[in-house]
Amino acid sequence: MWAKRQQREKTLTLCTGIVTDARCNGHDPGQDVPEHPRRLAAIDQVLARLNASLVRLQAREARTAELEWLHSPAYVRRIAATAGQKPVALSGDTMAGPGSDLAARVAVGACLEAVAAVVDNRLTNAFALVRPPGHHAEFSRAMGYCLFNNVALAAAFAMEALGLKRVLILDWDLHHGNGTQHLFEADPRVLFISVHQYPLYPGTGHFTETGRGPGEGYTINLPLPPGWGDGAYAAVFEQVVVPVARAFCPQLILVSAGFDAHHLDPMGGMEMSADGFAALTRCLMDLAGELCSRRLVLVLEGGYHAQALADSVAAVLTELCGATTHCYRDLAAAADPRQVNNVLTRCRHVHGHFWKALTRTNRQWFG
Ligand SMILES: [Zn+2]
Repeated sequence: MWAKRQQREKTLTLCTGIVTDARCNGHDPGQDVPEHPRRLAAIDQVLARLNASLVRLQAREARTAELEWLHSPAYVRRIAATAGQKPVALSGDTMAGPGSDLAARVAVGACLEAVAAVVDNRLTNAFALVRPPGHHAEFSRAMGYCLFNNVALAAAFAMEALGLKRVLILDWDLHHGNGTQHLFEADPRVLFISVHQYPLYPGTGHFTETGRGPGEGYTINLPLPPGWGDGAYAAVFEQVVVPVARAFCPQLILVSAGFDAHHLDPMGGMEMSADGFAALTRCLMDLAGELCSRRLVLVLEGGYHAQALADSVAAVLTELCGATTHCYRDLAAAADPRQVNNVLTRCRHVHGHFWKALTRTNRQWFG
């Protein structure tokens, strides 16, 4: 009996899933666009060398009805009409080629499969390594290299198909997740927390964007000046993400996991490292363990330096399956209060009346 339980617990600790699919690379915006098939190729190379126990999930195409949970039928038809056609510009920065509709549907379907496996306890946690990314995609508009909003549809799936009542989406991509915010800004079932460089593309994500109607308070934006690294990010997670998540008590944690805040990435001015992303992952693993039976699903967003992207994904996967244990609290303790105090104070002023837990956090950071 004891041996059986030990075996079961051992199995649980090792159950990290990945889902990726070559069809995602059917979306090819051209050599000059940073969001390119070479991103997944770099990740594939590092996966082949990764000495970690990972379960491979099979992706599937998302169905039209699933896409229409959050996108307009006309928009879904518009993307479908590009299949097999010559490349067309959907917006100033986003195109669709002959394989883009299938790639985008598979990217969404991969995320839904990851959520299904984690919510029904076949896996402890999972990482959907997909493209095109999703967090800029709006109800009826492609933008920022994104066609369908992968992470938002994963949340919708958890609620519509699996019956969950509360989902936390944490977005640590360099850029603000405007699409995800807008799709759920009036929905109190989804708590959206975004840490992003500001000002920067797409221009949204100010402190004062806090949700609307019944969703008021369930959007938390932490716009950061450039130059933030592992310690400052860890401090914000410790001082804002942890207490607010505990108060919200999600049944699933989703992550818009972009790696363009890495210090080598050409897109912005952040100073994160691969180990820093692993530490943020550990923070969310701890929260998921405490609050929601360890249910944690990461979805790839940006990350445009191939080696930094691959190294960061490897560090996160190694953490997810328990082969490493990074300590975000040690990083947070070493952060420079002069760098983080302004953001933490603004956040408390905007959100303290709604999230009382913010006013009870460690005072040393709030001057
Ligand atoms: Zn980004």
